[in-house]
Amino acid sequence: MYKKLFIPGPTDVAPEVLEKMATPMIGHRTKEATALQQSVSEKLQKLMYTRNTILLSTSSGTGLMEGAIRSCTRKKAAVFSVGAFGDRWYELARNNRVPVDIFKSEPGQPTTPEMVEEALKTGEYDVVTVTHNETSSGVVNPCAEIGEVIRRYPGVLYLVDAVSSLGGAKIEVDQWGIDICIASTQKCLALPPGLSLCSVSERAIEAAEQVEFRGYYLDLVRLYKRVKKDYQYPSTPSLSHMYALDYQLDRILEEGLDNRFDRHEKLAGMVRAWALRHFSLFAKEGYRSNTVTCINNEEAFVFADLSKALLERGFRVGGGYGPFKATTFRIATMGELQEDTLAELLADIDEILGLEA
Ligand SMILES: *Cc1c(COP(=O)(O)O)cnc(C)c1O
Repeated sequence: MYKKLFIPGPTDVAPEVLEKMATPMIGHRTKEATALQQSVSEKLQKLMYTRNTILLSTSSGTGLMEGAIRSCTRKKAAVFSVGAFGDRWYELARNNRVPVDIFKSEPGQPTTPEMVEEALKTGEYDVVTVTHNETSSGVVNPCAEIGEVIRRYPGVLYLVDAVSSLGGAKIEVDQWGIDICIASTQKCLALPPGLSLCSVSERAIEAAEQVEFRGYYLDLVRLYKRVKKDYQYPSTPSLSHMYALDYQLDRILEEGLDNRFDRHEKLAGMVRAWALRHFSLFAKEGYRSNTVTCINNEEAFVFADLSKALLERGFRVGGGYGPFKATTFRIATMGELQEDTLAELLADIDEILGLEA
């Protein structure tokens, strides 16, 4: 039986978007491919509030994270982590021999502008990475305020993982001073997994040109140069994803960006209000995500039992992740989700656990 997805990616894909994945193939060096790639880029610039160049990658988001930290770090990267995906930047750097330090916040707490300022004052770093929306903990970081700090340190690049928020929350790339902003297709953009995208500033590319070994497939300079020339990619990209993305971006822009972000806020508000009646929330107030809510499982019910009962009713919810696996569970409110479906899920959980609505 088909299960409605409330996991933080992949999310449900609208049938007509899914159909676009089956568009007959074209040559990837044709004018049609160029037009498709240009169209996707221009729509993504709107969604990201940026004039920066858009790069697509036929890899999941982790691929562009690897390409970004490796391509851009000349001296040393400062990785700010509030959970498993923040830690991933550190692993990516280490495994590519990129000099790196990691700065962790207490569980449920955000990365603060003060923490970033403290690190940058040492003069040791030329790259900062921040997770906009930490999917393992449901924490949103104050990326605009952090951007204001980074702006005061001219050689420092600002890399943001927006994998689980772009398309569900407003991210103003240019205003916030983000040099590279990364997302995957299978989360808030509500497409199948397999493609990722980023915006990249010119100064990030200028910095990357000073790095001798940037790898090959994920070398951002190589990608950038080809895209700048004619919107083409150095190797054969997933054209199927591009067809679906181009169409889905039309739907997103038709819904209206503010409407879409408001819908996510409302949905997450429903989950939070429900969760606070029965449980507690992992993320500190003021830093709670509108795309994934992480709930403390201190009532000591067995999540596996709840999950099984929900699957029988056609819903798949998310367990805990990484370091918070045993003590939390997660409900994602991403993509095309509507209020009535969410209300149904929450009522079903109440019924299964015998909670008072
Ligand atoms: C899912 C996720 C990733 C990893 O993305 P992939 O597309 O699976 O590589 C990275 N960061 C965050 C915040 C995520 O939610």
